[in-house]
Parts: sequence; structure tokens; C-alpha cells
Amino acid sequence: MRRLIAALLLGCATALASAEQPWVEEIPAAALDADTVRFVQANAEFTLLHEMGHLLIHELGLPVLGREEDAADQLGFMGLFLLYRRQHEPDFAARLLDIADYWRLEWQRAKPPHEEVREWDSHALDAQRFYNLACLAYGSDPRQLEWIIQATGLPEQRAFYCDQEYQQVLHAVSWLKRHYQRQPGQPAGAQISVVYDEPSPALADGAELLAKVRSSGELEAVAAKAGEAFVLPRPLLLRLTNCGEPDAWYNQQSGELTLCYERLVHLRQLAAQLPRLRQPLHPAKDDP
Ligand SMILES: [Zn+2]
Repeated sequence: MRRLIAALLLGCATALASAEQPWVEEIPAAALDADTVRFVQANAEFTLLHEMGHLLIHELGLPVLGREEDAADQLGFMGLFLLYRRQHEPDFAARLLDIADYWRLEWQRAKPPHEEVREWDSHALDAQRFYNLACLAYGSDPRQLEWIIQATGLPEQRAFYCDQEYQQVLHAVSWLKRHYQRQPGQPAGAQISVVYDEPSPALADGAELLAKVRSSGELEAVAAKAGEAFVLPRPLLLRLTNCGEPDAWYNQQSGELTLCYERLVHLRQLAAQLPRLRQPLHPAKDDP
């Protein structure tokens, strides 16, 4: 089953798993502790893969049942299995928990009214995204990951069906692969170019982090593998830029995926709250 997962969607497991260094691991240990590094990396990757989900939905004309934002979260979640080939990465489950916990931190973070996700929004509420992702994480391997129920506070009424939710997502991604992945011998389509704008001086605190993201080559690897795995109908762009807010989006008119530098810096700031969030959870994590 895990091998099947690894072969799905972007088909990029090999290149990404063998990338020389993930985004932020070269930062000196004194600057970032291991939990922070993992949290930032996992959520930066999830952000990128969520937006790649939007890209594939629009460029390939994928059928979407339910809300596109929920579908993009599911595609992003499954993309993580490609990045880490689950069974080979001892901290993979912790990365899945990082993805869910990001939304718990957003949910609990005091924020100005314009940043609040409202009931009418196209996105699920932060709390709902937290529980959705916690459920998929647990449901991906209920026997091994039962501790996630306690670590996230996932109510048993929801947890009971999480394996079915995960299997449903897996089934959808398998269908996507069968119908849309480029076949052997089929000519490649257009490619995704990666562009880095100069980071704003206002982001000087995160300059080292942003430089590491760029030098890792991981964005280029994800873009290249998406272009190899699917026949994209037109040239597309992945742009790292200054947005003035910690955002990311895919513009289907211009064919441009934007990942804001501020998003990466924001992840690092949120990670500072992880110890508080995880304080009562460590016994459960250490004793799965
Ligand atoms: Zn989205």
C-alpha cells in the first residue's frame, strides 16, 4: 500500500527523496532547533504541494467534487508521501503532525479581523483544516499512529472513520494517476519555470532561511517532476516573491504559482509556539 502511495500523483519520490539537502537543514543548530526545522520544512512543502494541487486541477481540468480548497489540501497531503516515502523516514509521522498543528496554531492565534477565515470563505475554517489533516494523518496508518488521536485531541467520533477518509483520498489520487499521468513514450508537455525575486530588506531576519530555500533546489525539483509526470498544456511559472503577507496562491489566468517569502518567515515564527503546543503531548509521542 505504501509503495502505491509513493508512486502516485507527481511521481517525484525518487528525485525528491534523494535531494542533497532539504530546505532548511543546513542552518546551524544554534539558530534553529530540530523541531523548528522540521515544522518549517514540512509546512513549506505542504504549502507548495497544496498550490500544486490547484495548478493540476486547473491545468489538467481535473474533476473536483466538493470544495477545491479541500481537494487541494488532500492533494498536498498525499504529495507529502511522495516527498518522504513514508516508511523510510523515521520522523514522517511527526511531519504529518506538523502539518495539522500549523492549522491548530493558526486557529488559536489572535489575529486582526481581516486575517480571520470566515464561515463564507472558500477555505474551511482553520479549526476544520486542523481536524481534517489530523484525521488523514491518523487514518493513513491507524495501527501505528494511534498516538495522533491523543496528540491532536481528535474526538473518537471522527477518528473512527479516519481510515475510510484516507482510503477515499487514496482512491481519488489513484484515479487521477490512471487518467492523467503521462504514459511511457508520450511526449512531455510544457514545463514549470522557477523565478526568485529579490527578498525585501524588511525580511532580513529570514534572509538565511530564504537563501537556503533557494540553494536547496527543491522547488525546481518539484516543478520539474510535475512537468515530467503530467502533460501540462502551457508553460507555467513558480515565483518566490515579496507579497507583504504570508500567503501563497495559484493564478489560473496567468498560470503563475506564487509562494510568498513572508509565508516562510511566518512559519518560523509560528514554530516558536510549538513547545507550548506540544508540552503535554511528548509522553504520548515517545510511547506510541
Ligand atoms: Zn488553496
